[in-house]
Amino acid sequence: MFDDRHGLVVEASRVPLQQLSLSWAREAGIDLWIRRDDLIHPALSGNKFYKLYFNLQQAKAQGVGHIASYGGAWSNHLHALAAAGAEAGLKTHGVVRGEAPAQLSACLVDAESWGMELRFVSRELYKLKPDNSTLLGLPDGDLFWVPEGGANLAGAAGMQVLGQVLEAQLEGRPADICLACGTASSLAGVAAGVSSGRKVLGFPVLKSGGAQQEPLAQRTMAFWRQLQSGRQANWCLLWGFHGGGYGRKPKNNLFEFWRQFEGETGVPLDPVYTLKLFWGIYCLARLGYWPRGSRVIAIHTGGLQGRRGFTCP
Ligand SMILES: *Cc1c(COP(=O)(O)O)cnc(C)c1O
Repeated sequence: MFDDRHGLVVEASRVPLQQLSLSWAREAGIDLWIRRDDLIHPALSGNKFYKLYFNLQQAKAQGVGHIASYGGAWSNHLHALAAAGAEAGLKTHGVVRGEAPAQLSACLVDAESWGMELRFVSRELYKLKPDNSTLLGLPDGDLFWVPEGGANLAGAAGMQVLGQVLEAQLEGRPADICLACGTASSLAGVAAGVSSGRKVLGFPVLKSGGAQQEPLAQRTMAFWRQLQSGRQANWCLLWGFHGGGYGRKPKNNLFEFWRQFEGETGVPLDPVYTLKLFWGIYCLARLGYWPRGSRVIAIHTGGLQGRRGFTCP
């Protein structure tokens, strides 16, 4: 794995596109589908599979022995990086935000079991993201750093492959594409991968004032521009569906929505990203955002390991 672009296309082409049977979607007259990228790999799930693919390829090409990145105690990114490094035969290092806890999260227990070396750093130091080998006590030339969340051009380029494969699956049929956003590098990649006439809607899971909105849009634009050229922007960020903020316990009405969604569809959602994505789609559908008969495709970006950190009331 992590050999060439073709390998990623093959994996992405196996991901099923499923029609969802949901009462609220029927009532709004939208034909709602889900791309089950949560199923792409048992441990390296969802968009992190794509975002790490070319990063791992680059690390292997450089011939380094170690790969490192950042994240919190429930980071889908560190979880996936640990799994990816184990598959690629690279030693992984996770720099974790905050003091070492008495008991590791299930996420970090997995990461450690796959050989990741964890290093806890204070929140102050974490903010500086010192991507230097000294922090890990490793020789400079033997280490490849992946930014937090896999948010670099290689990460976005992996998601561009997802967009290209999805475009082929749609065979020219009209449909809007929806996905949850953290750094929105996935949004940039998918939008650059689909045809220029297709709209890609990103639902940020962060609670935002105007101060956060502009930098995120600018970063998305920067990645998107580097991946294709000369097109009209075919993506947008739709704010306000964070349901309480990143990693916060979802509000009660969201729990009800979550339970009902899973009951009707049998598709599991994670509370941090995909629950908020569908909450956003639901709100837009209720508001009549899509004309009746519209097809809408949601990308399941994975993250289900994070469910273990939440308990339903
Ligand atoms: C990391 C993650 C995202 C956000 O991806 P970005 O590229 O940072 O926007 C979305 N969904 C899930 C499940 C994730 O783990």
